[in-house]
Amino acid sequence: ERESEPILETTDLTKKFGSLVANDGIDFSVTDGEIRGLIGPNGSGKSTFFNTVSGFYKPTSGTVRFNGTDVTGWKPYAIAREGLARTFQITTPFEEMTVRDNLLAVPNDDDVDSRERAAEILEFLEIDHLADDLADEMSGGQQKLLELARILMLDPDCIMLDEPTAGVNPALQERILDHIREMNRQGTSFVIVEHDMDMIKQIADTVTVFDQGRVIAEGAFDDVKGDPRVREAYLGS
Ligand code: ADP
Ligand code: MG
Repeated sequence: ERESEPILETTDLTKKFGSLVANDGIDFSVTDGEIRGLIGPNGSGKSTFFNTVSGFYKPTSGTVRFNGTDVTGWKPYAIAREGLARTFQITTPFEEMTVRDNLLAVPNDDDVDSRERAAEILEFLEIDHLADDLADEMSGGQQKLLELARILMLDPDCIMLDEPTAGVNPALQERILDHIREMNRQGTSFVIVEHDMDMIKQIADTVTVFDQGRVIAEGAFDDVKGDPRVREAYLGS
């Protein structure tokens, strides 16, 4: 049935750095409309996976399919334009630009009115009052929202978030979660890397656990949490 079509699927995806295997044959599949949590100890390969899937690293082997298209080895902008967007663990706004101009700087080749779209997104994320401020003047948490705002300019079908609430105050964290849920209700799929287990438990439909570059468990948060391999992975780190 159509509902269960994967929007994002990797097959035997491997990324090596010299002799270090950062991602080791990862089979990963996200259903359209899902919020997937991706957890695992430090160094287990989560950020590498994001980088490889989103085109920032070239995979050593394996494939990435998005919306039925093989995007393996595509450039990041081409993958983003296809509808798969991602944020970085460390945000990188153009600090000397205003918040609004940060959005307008996102390359956009459709007919949409960028200014109108930027205004809508800033309002949706409740940072419209900061539109004329320099990105530099925002708090770390607000910069996370700005990064989200920038990728929304691409109208993505699937968003990969690397630690979206790390270092963000609890009130803003709640707002970020609400925005994710609202976008999800409107049809956007998510893959979220997050250290905060409460956050993952609250937001993810299904959780995938990495350890040493491999998938060691997958399922509902409470099932995965009780899995002995998962406990061992976290204790051993
Ligand atoms: P996580 O995000 O789960 O903490 P990473 O994907 O950042 O893990 O790292 C996985 C492994 O790959 C680690 O051993 C890390 O040191 C290594 N690694 C990540 N990026 C690079 C890189 N650009 N060059 C060499 N090694 C890297
Ligand atoms: Mg990481």
